[in-house]
Amino acid sequence: MRHVIIFGAPGSGKGTQSKKIVDALNFIGMSTGDLLRSEIESGSAVGRECESVMAQGKFPDSKLIYRLVDRFLSNQENVSGVLYDGFPRTVDQAKFLIDTLKNKGAVVESVLNIKVDHADLLKRITGRFSCVQCGEIYNKYYKPCKEKGVCDICQSEEFKVRSDDTEETVKTRLRMYKDETAPVLDLLRAQNVKIVCIDGMQSMESVFEQIENALINE
Ligand code: AMP
Repeated sequence: MRHVIIFGAPGSGKGTQSKKIVDALNFIGMSTGDLLRSEIESGSAVGRECESVMAQGKFPDSKLIYRLVDRFLSNQENVSGVLYDGFPRTVDQAKFLIDTLKNKGAVVESVLNIKVDHADLLKRITGRFSCVQCGEIYNKYYKPCKEKGVCDICQSEEFKVRSDDTEETVKTRLRMYKDETAPVLDLLRAQNVKIVCIDGMQSMESVFEQIENALINE
């Protein structure tokens, strides 16, 4: 099974591209952010424990994350690849992933490092909203619905905004990225994991093309 990490600052387009990769390349996506949001929605003990931390843009205890990742991976025997989105987010989490995969006789194949200018990130995040029905992600500045208030994909008229996409929280999330997450790249590079640089300032289609080339030519 292939194990690929999609990497980049909050707002770099990881979620949007992950969806496209999963649809096109028979990967299964593992977004720890999505797993945590489901825990919160279900009202589970894990959800209750991490809700306020997440709302501030900080990270819940990694032990919680490891439980979610273990549970997810133990249910995925028959897929051709796993795409990790939002994980690993710290150097310790990267070590956990490397060890977990080693126990399964697997390795991290590559990292797709999406690069976006810092100035753009704030607008990308604070303009973001998604369809409640199908999950399609939009942005009021860059990718509005073709018909205002109607989802292009499923025609639903119900949308939601992530509670941690406020300007104040985004600043914390960007700082956490710089201090805690960016160093993950150095660790993976030192482990000889291939790091593929993706220009995230291009159109969504062109970003996807770069990713497809990287994954198909692997
Ligand atoms: P995301 O959907 O990846 O942008 O994540 C949203 C929020 O969930 C982050 O700001 C963190 O509070 C939390 N989160 C997601 N993944 C992780 C992780 N691997 N480790 C710690 N916190 C995470």
